[in-house]
Amino acid sequence: MSSLQMREMEVLGKDIGFSNVAEMDVGTVRLLGDVRRMCESNGCGMYGRNWSCPPACGSLEECEARISGYRRGILVQTVGELEDEFDGEGMMETEARHKDAFVRMHDELKKVFPKLLSIGAGCCTRCKVCSYPDAPCRFPEKQFSSMEAYGMLVTQICQDNGMAYYYGPGTIAYTSCFLLE
Ligand code: SF4
Repeated sequence: MSSLQMREMEVLGKDIGFSNVAEMDVGTVRLLGDVRRMCESNGCGMYGRNWSCPPACGSLEECEARISGYRRGILVQTVGELEDEFDGEGMMETEARHKDAFVRMHDELKKVFPKLLSIGAGCCTRCKVCSYPDAPCRFPEKQFSSMEAYGMLVTQICQDNGMAYYYGPGTIAYTSCFLLE
């Protein structure tokens, strides 16, 4: 199979376990300094602790160069239900489901799109403990950065591509994207 149509990718994504799959126009992607500065404020505690996160993932200019040339993409999303807004276990369970589906989707799309660029939610978790900064990345071909690390504002990208981001109280959504080439 030389390519996959959007409908086939939607079916594949849903089979793998995503809640939603949508076509993404790469022209809507803007890499924003404000998002990168949010990484630098280290709210998630991963800044400077993983090869896939800033500063190791490269400057926004380097990220821009990496995504240039891609025109076609898809957004994938996992929506989870929470018992209440403090349901950390529910959040972690939804994130784990999303990351598991993300890796499986990457492996499937890679068979069809050799230059696939997979951009996830949260830092790379291919290894239990990232080798950063003591040794080179163990799997440079398989590591993935987050949309935020690229400076992408996930809400804006969802909105501009017709995908909801917020599903009401008691829910949480994790979103990733794949650039296809
Ligand atoms: S593949 Fe492993 S070493 Fe490389 S960025 Fe991911 S977690 Fe770190």
